[in-house]
Amino acid sequence: MTVDAAANERTASACAFCAGDGGELVWRDARLRVILPDEADYPGFTRVVWAAHVVEMTELDPADREHLMSVVWRVEAAQRETLAPDKVNLASFGNVTPHLHWHVIPRWRDDRHFPEPVWGQPAFGRDAVVAARARTVRALLPAYRAALLRVLG
Ligand SMILES: [Zn+2]
Repeated sequence: MTVDAAANERTASACAFCAGDGGELVWRDARLRVILPDEADYPGFTRVVWAAHVVEMTELDPADREHLMSVVWRVEAAQRETLAPDKVNLASFGNVTPHLHWHVIPRWRDDRHFPEPVWGQPAFGRDAVVAARARTVRALLPAYRAALLRVLG
């Protein structure tokens, strides 16, 4: 066992993404899963989570990295097609949960945090438009789920 693998095994025992799916499971294959974590202000917020407890992208072999990113691109395409966001945010941090995952976040100019990241300072005085945006996007989720299943095969 490598040093990295031993360290990964230690952190896996307390890992939320090893303990459960982490949200509504939309699609999975042997290597990864696509989930909707149900963020109240961000319907359509999607995570692509590597199945094994791996911390960094460069721990994956090139074919696995390619597969992971191809799924991220397909999720982004499905969001653009069905949700028509003003912007898609792609992010991978793992500071809180060091288990390889990508956030694919549809963003609108009238959402809770725009133009900040969704983890940043919320904009004030926007509650009504934020709620209206979330309702509009929530109504599109069935079409989004269908698009995900189509593009992910
Ligand atoms: Zn894990």
